[in-house]
Amino acid sequence: MIEKNLVQQAVSKAYADNKALTGGENASYIPYLASVPSDLFGVAVVTTGGEIFSAGDVKFEFAIESISKVFTMALAMEQIGTDAFRKKIGADPTGEAFNSVIALELHGDRPLSPLVNAGAIASTSLVAAKDKEDRYQQILGIQSAFAGRALTMSTEVNDSEQTTNFHNRAMAWLMQGAGAMYSEPMDAVEVYTRQCSTLITATDLAAMGATLASGGVNPLTGKRVVKAANVGPILAEMTMEGLYTASGDWAYTVGLPGKSGVGGGILAVVPGQMAIAAFSPPLDPVGNSVKAQAAVASVANTLGLSLFSRP
Ligand code: GLU
Repeated sequence: MIEKNLVQQAVSKAYADNKALTGGENASYIPYLASVPSDLFGVAVVTTGGEIFSAGDVKFEFAIESISKVFTMALAMEQIGTDAFRKKIGADPTGEAFNSVIALELHGDRPLSPLVNAGAIASTSLVAAKDKEDRYQQILGIQSAFAGRALTMSTEVNDSEQTTNFHNRAMAWLMQGAGAMYSEPMDAVEVYTRQCSTLITATDLAAMGATLASGGVNPLTGKRVVKAANVGPILAEMTMEGLYTASGDWAYTVGLPGKSGVGGGILAVVPGQMAIAAFSPPLDPVGNSVKAQAAVASVANTLGLSLFSRP
């Protein structure tokens, strides 16, 4: 295990080196996200031993957005198993933008990955539930279990997205036509949109990742959240599509399973050791936070954490 003071030094360095980094813009297609102060920036690490290291704005609550896809996937895998999940949703990169309709059309209106919008909406529809409220509560429940505290939804974010998510609704209908939706399509989009509106801090995000790093047991609460056997498939999905069309660059330069969200959060998981999280709203054209990517990469590189460069 890496010495504690080295981890804090790496976190402080990632923050200091990237605080003045410019570039990117807040997501503007969701009106609420455009209004979040662009200069917020926080970096956090939670280890599998439950230690927390941080720098900057790690108490600010931001919208989880696409990172929610990881936890809904985890819930669906718990319910139906990883093989059935992969057959129904997939595990390959689409090579297209996170909300691409073209990617769907190229593959018979079926998603390739649970970590693009189409596959995430299909995953949400796959969660076994008696109705949409039950489905949402189960998803919020697993998000909270991963974070180690009761998370809540921002009604402001949710209202902002529910009234503008026409593109996602169109994709759900395309998938419905192909038999790739597992609940009423508009219910699934509504629940998916709610799950994206959960508020988390950078420290929550690191705790969520640390639960994956420690084989499915939350290191802060000691509670098992998902089966150990499901963690590998979850991390594989993250490696393939976690940072959208930059997932290959991320694997090359950082070498860790990751996931980004248009709210500005980025997560990377170091199996058996820790999770690194960062938050900063301005995004690059792919949809990944400029500063958060740089900060997570900095911690990973300072501590030599790439999975592909181990001696
Ligand atoms: N709620 C957002 C959407 O569906 C999430 C997208 C993202 O973070 O990539 O467009």
